[in-house]
Amino acid sequence: MTPCPKCQGRPVSGFMLVNRGDGDCTLEPSRGCSVCGGTGEITEAHAAHYQTARRWRRQRIDVGTDTLRSAGQRWGVSPAVVSKAENYGIGDPWIFERMAAELAESTESEAQRA
Ligand SMILES: [Zn+2]
Repeated sequence: MTPCPKCQGRPVSGFMLVNRGDGDCTLEPSRGCSVCGGTGEITEAHAAHYQTARRWRRQRIDVGTDTLRSAGQRWGVSPAVVSKAENYGIGDPWIFERMAAELAESTESEAQRA
């Protein structure tokens, strides 16, 4: 396991009032991190997927021609699946292989232009 790269191992983002439905409210830590699910750490494989996905997302936004929808169409999945993968590093391993391959391709074509 490795510290979560999103919350840096500190998934508690604050406190929230929880209504117990019996007239009582309690103040509980809010575990808002959607990458680690509030545990503060993730597996090495998940961390690698997350890093790949964040690089892929940055490039997708920088280039500005690819969208969650177009990537989903290219890979045969819904935009929601692409979104979950790029934001949280969560998804089937082949998605991150595709992201890594697309990153490598674009690095190559940049090198050819230079
Ligand atoms: Zn986290």
